[in-house]
Amino acid sequence: MRILVVEDEPKIAQSLKRGLELKSYAVDAVHDGDSGLAYARDDDYDLIILDRMLPGSIDGTEICRKLREEKINTPIIMLTARGTIGDKVEGLNLGADDYLVKPFAFDELIARVQALLRRPQVNLGTALTIDNLSLNPHTYEVKRGPNIIKLSHKEFALLEYLMHHQDQIISKDHLVNHIWDEDSNILPNTIEVYIGYLRNKIDRPFPKYKPLIHTLRGFGYKLSLK
Ligand code: CA
Repeated sequence: MRILVVEDEPKIAQSLKRGLELKSYAVDAVHDGDSGLAYARDDDYDLIILDRMLPGSIDGTEICRKLREEKINTPIIMLTARGTIGDKVEGLNLGADDYLVKPFAFDELIARVQALLRRPQVNLGTALTIDNLSLNPHTYEVKRGPNIIKLSHKEFALLEYLMHHQDQIISKDHLVNHIWDEDSNILPNTIEVYIGYLRNKIDRPFPKYKPLIHTLRGFGYKLSLK
């Protein structure tokens, strides 16, 4: 999952980026309202963390309003130093999905990020599953049948994304844009390498189980039972 952080205080922006990356998210950070809006219009983000007070010609509430007007529905968590009920209601009315008052505990932010990202899932708080493969976004435990599987951050992020989009064909470009940040300069062929790593961990060691990762030449990949 790829997250955009729009936050002008460099310390907070840096610590958010680092903290979220440790949780296997790809993160781009920008520091003023105008870049925030320009980046947020790119629909490759799965979530936006948006500070309310920003330098530049447009602030957080305006960015939020514009995005919703443009039917860009990327989930938004608003950050603000101001915490009155009126501010919260205004932010939520403008289309933010959640609201967090500074200073906040990083763990709380993560919990809210995870809650928003798993919204389409029916079973809140439980692991994502397909066949006998399970991935728990909270404990980071991945299992195939009774076997615990150890994944790197990027492998985990890739598998989590595929599990959220089961039975859909996902192109390499799409995966590049959702799993890596803009500084990574990653090539679509690198995706092949990572898909190979994943196969070697979740499919190949278990010949008795159904293979789950499927390559559709020229189109991309699909995580499915068939
Ligand atoms: Ca600010």
